[in-house]
Amino acid sequence: MLFTPDRHEPLTDSSFSEAAARSAIARITSRAEQELDSAAGLWSRDSTDEIEAGEGRAEGDEDDRRGLAHVGGCSHRLWRELRSRGGRLARALDLHEYQGKELFRRHGIPVSEGRLATSPTDARQAAVDLGGPVVVKAQVLTGGRGKAGGIKLADSPADAEARAREILGLDIRGHVVHKLWIERASEIAKEYYLSITFDRSAKRPLFMFTTHGGVDIEQVAEESPEALVRLHVDPLEGFQPYQARRLVYGAGVEDPGEQKQIAAIVGKLYAAFVACDALLCEINPLIVTPAGEVKALDSKFTVDDNALFRHADIAEMRDVSAADPLEALAREKGVTYVKLDGEVGVLGNGAGLTMSTVDVVTFVGGRPANFCDLGGGGDAQGVVDALEVITRDPQVTAIFFNIFGGITRCDEVARGILQALGQLSLSQPIVVRLDGTNAEEGRRILAESAPPNLYVEPTMLDAAKKAVELAA
Ligand code: GDP
Ligand code: MN
Repeated sequence: MLFTPDRHEPLTDSSFSEAAARSAIARITSRAEQELDSAAGLWSRDSTDEIEAGEGRAEGDEDDRRGLAHVGGCSHRLWRELRSRGGRLARALDLHEYQGKELFRRHGIPVSEGRLATSPTDARQAAVDLGGPVVVKAQVLTGGRGKAGGIKLADSPADAEARAREILGLDIRGHVVHKLWIERASEIAKEYYLSITFDRSAKRPLFMFTTHGGVDIEQVAEESPEALVRLHVDPLEGFQPYQARRLVYGAGVEDPGEQKQIAAIVGKLYAAFVACDALLCEINPLIVTPAGEVKALDSKFTVDDNALFRHADIAEMRDVSAADPLEALAREKGVTYVKLDGEVGVLGNGAGLTMSTVDVVTFVGGRPANFCDLGGGGDAQGVVDALEVITRDPQVTAIFFNIFGGITRCDEVARGILQALGQLSLSQPIVVRLDGTNAEEGRRILAESAPPNLYVEPTMLDAAKKAVELAA
């Protein structure tokens, strides 16, 4: 089920109480979050700690597929973005592969020896130090580096230098490569996948393991869900060794040596996840060498920002230069922002309303350029900051400003919009839908000053249509 406009609460009565507004927002938000989770198709609906491969998934599968098809690439993309931040809009610290591997190493998870390099000569020296063939790996905060040409094998120091020259400066989906991780090359017999993240609907950490590694896990979930073994850990009981055996047997790993090594890695990964206050620890691929040795060939490690006060060492790992420039600006301004691929800049207040705004834009045939949540405040400066971030994206050709005034007052938002228009000289048209607390006054404020590129629409659907029309 998707969050569509007709499923909204009737919010047209402007005389409701603030308490009612608060609870309506809470309902909308939690529903959107649940739907976000269920549309994803990876999270389970119940909180059983049984193995969930195979039989248990039959009922969910149809739902999942419908969900994925229904969201039509827009919300799915957003969901993936959110999942990559640990499945929610919390601020999360994404670590580079080499940093995640350092944390793995500290927790006893086997990784290859490597060196950081920022120049081709560094890379050559690293290859000399390591000896033998190496792999030169772009350190950027985005996945799929291999396919994008950011990962190359090198037989000699001279070769490593040449590969480094090719990869440094490469633009991988908007992330320019400034750092390389030079690692002793591994021989690969098999590629598996292992991760632990939060299943928020079950309120427990969730392990996922499959022998179909080395590819996108979303693809495995879609094409062969029976191969993906999922297992919850009760956070109070903690991880139990039998759970690792369930994962390993459930995925059909037959070699006893592999079983033993993987089970040990599962336990250590849980320890690392808990000790670091991580939101996601993903190993893709977890390889088996021809000699039967299992190790982490890649790392995706996301740490909860809220816990950084007790992890000074991890807090220091934040690479400000590697963040997407727009997202870095958003972070600096305290704006919740996710870049998407379309043309309609979306601005809402509250995660639920913003999610549904993204869906409504898609529903009427448009493509959202971003997800931007003003949060509960919506004061004038917040509006100015959010618009500044959105309009910095050259792809944005129209802006849809969707505000439901609960705690946020629409007159305050209206003043913020006018202030922003005064400060920013926007070239894009803005479509505004104001509803809720002080909506009439808000609309009156906008109507009185009537900036030429501002359109006020009464409903969410009308506003979405107008924004999509203007964006074209
Ligand atoms: P990603 O593309 O960003 O996920 O980067 P990975 O670190 O997962 O590397 C992508 C792929 O490169 C892996 O799935 C491997 O097939 C290959 N690769 C990475 N390191 C090595 C290595 O040491 N030896 C070999 N033979 N292949 C490697
Ligand atoms: Mn990988």
